[in-house]
Amino acid sequence: MTDDSIEPAELTADDLLVVEDDHFTAENVAIVTGGGSGIGRATAVALAANGLTVAATDIDEDGLAGTVEKAEDVGVAGTVETVVGDLTDDDDLERIVEEAAEFGQIRYLANIAGLQHIDPIDEFPVEQFDLLHSVMLRAPFVLSKHVIPHVEATDDGVGAIGNMASIHGHIATQDKVGYISSKFGIRGLTKCIAAEGDGTLRSFSVSTGYVKTPLVTNQIPDTAEERGISEREVVEDVMLGDAKVTEMMEPAEVANLFTLGFSKHGRHLDGGDLTWDGGHLSTY
Ligand code: NAD
Repeated sequence: MTDDSIEPAELTADDLLVVEDDHFTAENVAIVTGGGSGIGRATAVALAANGLTVAATDIDEDGLAGTVEKAEDVGVAGTVETVVGDLTDDDDLERIVEEAAEFGQIRYLANIAGLQHIDPIDEFPVEQFDLLHSVMLRAPFVLSKHVIPHVEATDDGVGAIGNMASIHGHIATQDKVGYISSKFGIRGLTKCIAAEGDGTLRSFSVSTGYVKTPLVTNQIPDTAEERGISEREVVEDVMLGDAKVTEMMEPAEVANLFTLGFSKHGRHLDGGDLTWDGGHLSTY
């Protein structure tokens, strides 16, 4: 399936929310995981468009190069620097933060990297369960652990950690036990960071429905096979059937939520969730 219902539009400067914020300057650094693709790439570009120095990290070096290119095309005010690393490796997690600190003062962390695996529980490989939890729950915890002292060392302690959750951090569907249990977990981690952050270091999660990225495109054939339906039925019935806004989101629309949450306009967003789901969770 390659129609525009699942293919993202070209990201342009017009798609990006740009806000005035005294902390959105080149001296301040935002680490963005998953920065080589999809929502992470759009978020890296969006935060750089707001004047920040972004440390985009990913295991995919070519993907990161594509993000730098995209930022140049858009003509961002800030910079996108890159750090290649594997979020399942503890040494890499420490190094990512150390390298990011060389670019400036770390104030923001966007935990976005993720992956999916489709199988019913009785057939779900334990290694896949562990991998999904390692990338989408354990790495956000370890990165937070390394980033918090940097935020606390700033003159005013202002900073924020934004965590990519999902509607699947609120409700469950079949065949996604690794993903869903890690997304419920990251909403818990978000609240723990808020509880210890004293209001200057804030935390929030972002929960969207389906977004036009490779993570979604790649799961369509497996979901179709697992449920015995066509790929079009996966998109129209499984993915969008319970939403009122029956269009998938663009990555840039998710990126803008990280900009909002990190900015002064997100000052009272602490431990909470930005649920941008087209009505999926609120209606039936
Ligand atoms: P994507 O596949 O486009 O990007 C995910 C990125 O994570 C890739 O660049 C990949 O290389 C990176 N990554 C995976 N494993 C890694 C590892 N071990 N070390 C370092 N990097 C690693 O996917 P996306 O849709 O942009 O997903 C981003 C986040 O958004 C995920 O947490 C996902 O669960 C969440 N999300 C996506 C959707 C959606 O519909 N696409 C909806 C809700 C939530």
